[in-house]
Amino acid sequence: MILDAEIVRLAKINERALTLLGEPDRVINFRMRRHVPTEQELVNVYVVYHSAARGPPCKGGVRMSKDITLEEVTQLAEIMTYKNALMDLPFGGAKAGIVADSELPPDSKSLIMEGFAHEIRHELISGNYVPAPDLGTSPREMAVIFGETHVRESVTGKPIGIGGLPGRKEATGYGVSAVSERAVKELLDKELSDTTVAVQGFGNVGSWACHFLAENGAKIIGITDKHCGTIQRKGINIEELKKHLQKNMTLDSYGEKKLGNEEILELDVDVLIPSAVGNVITKQNAGKVKANIVIEGANAPVTKEADEVLERNNITVVPDILTNAGGVVASYDEWRKSKAGTRTKRVETFATIKETLLEAFEEVMNFSSDRNVSLRKASLAIAACRVMETIEGRGWL
Ligand code: NAD
Repeated sequence: MILDAEIVRLAKINERALTLLGEPDRVINFRMRRHVPTEQELVNVYVVYHSAARGPPCKGGVRMSKDITLEEVTQLAEIMTYKNALMDLPFGGAKAGIVADSELPPDSKSLIMEGFAHEIRHELISGNYVPAPDLGTSPREMAVIFGETHVRESVTGKPIGIGGLPGRKEATGYGVSAVSERAVKELLDKELSDTTVAVQGFGNVGSWACHFLAENGAKIIGITDKHCGTIQRKGINIEELKKHLQKNMTLDSYGEKKLGNEEILELDVDVLIPSAVGNVITKQNAGKVKANIVIEGANAPVTKEADEVLERNNITVVPDILTNAGGVVASYDEWRKSKAGTRTKRVETFATIKETLLEAFEEVMNFSSDRNVSLRKASLAIAACRVMETIEGRGWL
């Protein structure tokens, strides 16, 4: 459970609500025999609704990874409950995990997604669960879900031609960049143009965060992906790196020298943005982090124990539920517009994300300084309080 005793006290969560939030509302688990690539025999799938208090729909991405476990999907669904509440969206928290290699060829992924959508068709059509992209999935896989349901609001993060939102694919990275800019100003009294950054993960979140940070003048000196990374102290040209990656299929051989996935966490930079997987900053390596601020682009990249080490070392962590919420804020817009059949522009999507995230940032900063608690505790307390009020409002207590 993410809520500790201090957050429970701050959010005034009572016993009954704590019981409701202590376990997921619903866990769906199945194994697919059909709709699987020939090289695999069975594909295990988990769909978890942590709390439907602010839903349905329950909202959260579909992760495809050969290492994903039920425990991790449950933790990610719980994060979604509080992320949606912190953004004040009328969504419950959910997550899906498909146990398959994220680097399968696109056609194999499509086949798996067809099976996934087929198996949970009722959840999708009824609007109980609205998926979106996450680690290992992209608009293409969301298009497959739409291809199965033929209901536009049954999935977000779709390609624009089938009702996707302009700006949705960049949304999470854009939000990470907007929050980073504000955090640097508020916490370090610096401008982005005067800031050095390291980013772990160069997928959807990491690459778009890099794009917008660089556009606003930040000097990104280190980037890694699953396989390797690169360091360039004069600043990495992001568009050049994207082209290099497309052409060579690796970040290797770009920049001054290779950079490892552990090494990037220890770079001497102003801002470190882990944007790949969870649990990368642990009590073992937290003491080696030299950045002044850690912005959680990924979900749960910093463990509880590491959080304490970073706090002792005066390194501020800006938590995932605040930092990477741009995606779900845009998804809410996509969902509403898919229902209404209306359109929007990319600049409007960005304006909504910036306004929503920076409003939440200010609220969290104020709560944190008023109660003298970390930004993580402040974010979770504000969010948990909203969930608690909703539970009360629904007469569930
Ligand atoms: P993605 O699949 O597009 O990219 C993942 C990136 O991380 C790739 O560059 C990959 O090479 C790298 N990576 C994978 N495993 C790694 C490892 N073990 N060590 C280092 N790097 C590794 O995924 P994404 O959509 O960018 O998601 C990244 C993170 O952001 C996840 O934690 C996800 O839950 C979170 N997130 C994503 C969204 C979204 O809209 N896509 C929204 C909120 C949060």
